[in-house]
Amino acid sequence: MCDLLIIGGGIIGLLTARELTLAGAKVMVLERNTAPARESSWAGGGIISPLYPWRYPDSIARLARAGHDLYPEICQQLHADTGIDPQYTRSGIFIRAEEEQDQALSWAVRWNYRISLESRSAIARLEPARFNPPEQLLWMPDIGQVRNPRLVKALVQDLKNRGVLLHTSAPVMDFRHEAGRIREVKTPAGSFQADQFILCTGAWTGELAHKLPSSPDIRPVRGQMLLFKGQPGQIRHMMLEENRYVIPRQDGRILFGSTLEEAGFDQSTTPAARQELAQLARQRFPLLKDCPIEKHWAGLRPAAPAGVPYITGHPHIENLYINAGHYRNGVVLAPGSARLVTDLLLGRKTRIDPTPYALDAPRG
Ligand SMILES: Cc1cc2nc3c(=O)[nH]c(=O)nc-3n(C[C@H](O)[C@H](O)[C@H](O)COP(=O)(O)OP(=O)(O)OC[C@H]3O[C@@H](n4cnc5c(N)ncnc54)[C@H](O)[C@@H]3O)c2cc1C
Repeated sequence: MCDLLIIGGGIIGLLTARELTLAGAKVMVLERNTAPARESSWAGGGIISPLYPWRYPDSIARLARAGHDLYPEICQQLHADTGIDPQYTRSGIFIRAEEEQDQALSWAVRWNYRISLESRSAIARLEPARFNPPEQLLWMPDIGQVRNPRLVKALVQDLKNRGVLLHTSAPVMDFRHEAGRIREVKTPAGSFQADQFILCTGAWTGELAHKLPSSPDIRPVRGQMLLFKGQPGQIRHMMLEENRYVIPRQDGRILFGSTLEEAGFDQSTTPAARQELAQLARQRFPLLKDCPIEKHWAGLRPAAPAGVPYITGHPHIENLYINAGHYRNGVVLAPGSARLVTDLLLGRKTRIDPTPYALDAPRG
């Protein structure tokens, strides 16, 4: 029997498994799909910051700051230990937000981020890609990005190297609980026991936890993304305008996303989104007219109210924890979130106040 059983092998489950293993626990991960991290964590853009970060409550800013600080070292360590490079790149981001400049500047001072307001000529010097910038843009030079599929691949390899058991094709269908404790979880591949259990099941958490006395409020919100095949260095920096952003990868591939759709658990891509994203991307960056669209995909964000995740022990089941509901920011929030749930599980002093992430905490 293992000490800890994590249900769900997305970025949240994998980073939680790593953090607990580093603390000396014996961990097992159960993943429903034939491979881990093929859902939201694979589909996401990998920007290591919330979009328009000043719009979020302190509970998000605190976890985001932890992610901002921790990612360079996590990625460097994973690369060294596994040979797989998650391609953490401090590419910086331009943000168009004319109405919110004062708010953004004071938020950045409070949370200690570099930010400046750049004129059109300064932007043209910083970003070689020919585009038609407005008079002014906010510039955050220290914001990084990771390449999600590589990050999760490196995490899976790292966990295997550390002896973590990762069962795929093992969907948890039900729990056996008695006297306020989970005794085992049931999958078609058999039942699994552990001392403690953690739900890291992303957008599916509400569905699964429904079988328990209280469950978190998490719904799926679909996001579609396009990948253009460009040349390295054609676009150097990320840019966000009206909730649509461009992310240039090291090998020249260029991501453009993303939609925000209430479509239940439907993960299909749609011709309408493809057309909207392609048109907007090429309008903003005319060079993309010469770049073929290589891929178009969709993922389901796990949306908790106000985007504030549940990182908490279950109030009625003493050996069950939840780490889910990170909505649009699961990649940037994952390291802080994994640390917090690990601190709670091991009874350590928490480095971040857990109150806002409780099951019954007010959200937005
Ligand atoms: C288009 C798009 C762009 C995004 N861009 C960014 C960004 O730039 N920056 C950022 O920080 N965030 C971004 N996000 C959000 C981020 O990707 C998510 O918040 C994050 O991936 C959630 O991670 P997760 O592990 O909770 O969920 P998931 O990655 O969905 O993982 C949950 C896992 O649980 C498994 N599972 C579910 N039910 C069961 C069960 N019953 N038994 C066993 N396993 C189960 C699933 O198969 C899945 O593998 C984006 C998301 C999308 C869709």
